Amino acid sequence: MSKKFDVIIIGAGPAGYHAAIRSAQLGLNTACIDKWISKEGKPVYGGTCLNVGCIPSKALLDTSHKYIEATENFDVLGIKVKGVSVDIEAMIARKDQIVENLTKGVAGLMKANGVTTFDGAAKLHAGRVVEVTLHDGKVESLEADNIVIATGSVPVAIPPCPLTDDIIVDSTGALDFKSVPKKLGVIGAGVIGLELGSVWMRLGAEVVVLEALEDFLPMADKQVAKEAAKQLKKQGMDVRLGARVTGSKIKGKKVNVIYSDGEGEKTETFDRLIVAVGRRPYTEGLLAAGSGVNLDERGFIHVNDLCATSAPSIYAVGDVVRGPMLAHKGMEEGLMVVERIAGQKPLVNYDCVPSVIYTHPEVAWVGKTEQELKAAGDKFNVGTFPMAASGRAMAANDTTGFIKVIADEETDRILGVHMIGGHVSELIAEAVIAMEFESSAEDLGLTMFAHPTLSEGLHEAALAVSGHAIHIANRRKKK
Ligand code: FAD
Ligand code: AMP
Repeated sequence: MSKKFDVIIIGAGPAGYHAAIRSAQLGLNTACIDKWISKEGKPVYGGTCLNVGCIPSKALLDTSHKYIEATENFDVLGIKVKGVSVDIEAMIARKDQIVENLTKGVAGLMKANGVTTFDGAAKLHAGRVVEVTLHDGKVESLEADNIVIATGSVPVAIPPCPLTDDIIVDSTGALDFKSVPKKLGVIGAGVIGLELGSVWMRLGAEVVVLEALEDFLPMADKQVAKEAAKQLKKQGMDVRLGARVTGSKIKGKKVNVIYSDGEGEKTETFDRLIVAVGRRPYTEGLLAAGSGVNLDERGFIHVNDLCATSAPSIYAVGDVVRGPMLAHKGMEEGLMVVERIAGQKPLVNYDCVPSVIYTHPEVAWVGKTEQELKAAGDKFNVGTFPMAASGRAMAANDTTGFIKVIADEETDRILGVHMIGGHVSELIAEAVIAMEFESSAEDLGLTMFAHPTLSEGLHEAALAVSGHAIHIANRRKKK
């Protein structure tokens, strides 16, 4: 006999566990299934984000940033420290502890909210029947009025660089190095490649990033991308654009990587190589014939704007569907879907998804870039404020970067906000709120910001749209 639920959620990553908890909060009888096994061999929730993604990468970015602060910047602040060193084992253990605390926390939240959990692999059959193969080998049959698929994504592998146990790794392997590689190669100058490359570079590795595209961070505002490239180069990161990796050869404890660029074929030797060429939707073993759920040409589960699949009452959210592969995008989709199942009418505003790169300086943006607006023929005004003019940034000895506000020329409505600088991962939320409320640049300009804060940079950039920023020369010509 199969167990019956109102909602079954497949996957307990950020998209799935948000959906599960909200579903239970709304009084729906909810089950959530996940097959993740931790490196200690235990079933855990939280998916990629908590186990091998957002959280562990930020733990290592924080350690390595503080190390750089101590070794390179404390002096300027008048702090004398001697003999600073990093204990890699302790750094990794701290990261693992954070992961454990958070994954246990999610398990606790599921329980506290009354979600019934199943630890095992789910397969979706016709008629919204889900067969779960539990980790102990037993098979359970579940049924529900509604199914939410949130099975996420996995790293893309490339044939020229098959993973090895210790030399060629993906992003997961790069979170667990036991020592700092002398020379580290990274394939892919995407967000993950730059973040993980930064971690090990700050700790002493010589880092070379090989990127097939000619453009650096093509999805970001051009001016921001240019500044990010400049700052990373200054820190020692050797980013080679137009460099497509075509092969690799393990030689003892090193790897020879073959790549081609405009000048021809080249080889570079590394102690470690991180393959960070993107992620792909994960649906292996998920869909039985007749499930009614269709994939698109790139392997994502095909959904409409409301995350409904081609099968009635079956939804899909998070990395396994179109859109940016970001935890917060999946979380909002998960909430939307179950709230709609419960009869509410929320929508996800895909125009207001913030993007963040946690390098130093950090990069963050929301909305349209100047190049996108120009391509669409839209008319706009731009206000920019350099962090070098911020009193708080000066006080913190962290004055790189700028904040840019783009507003519609006619209506002054904010169309995009682009930031590079310290802590902009936090500041971008202010821009998202403004855009969510369809604020004009003037609205932001009329809002009071605490002084002295980095946030004032956003205030000043918004004022600069009309030439009214106080702390920079920004007089606009009369039209
Ligand atoms: P996932 O987190 O991948 O979870 C899917 C879950 O489904 C997994 O637990 C899996 O075990 C389970 N599952 C799959 N198939 C089945 C099945 N058949 N049966 C049962 N269970 C199944 N995003 C950000 O927004 N900010 C960041 O800073 C950030 N940093 C990142 C850093 C790294 C190194 C990586 C790799 C990713 C990062 N991401 C970041 C991306 C983020 O992790 C993903 O966007 C997010 O985890 C997607 O959530 P999800 O719930 O859709 O899928
Ligand atoms: P993202 O998808 O944002 O994580 O970025 C992955 C990056 O890897 C993209 O910018 C790709 O252009 C890049 N990439 C993919 N395959 C290769 C390859 N064989 N050599 C170099 N770069 C690659």
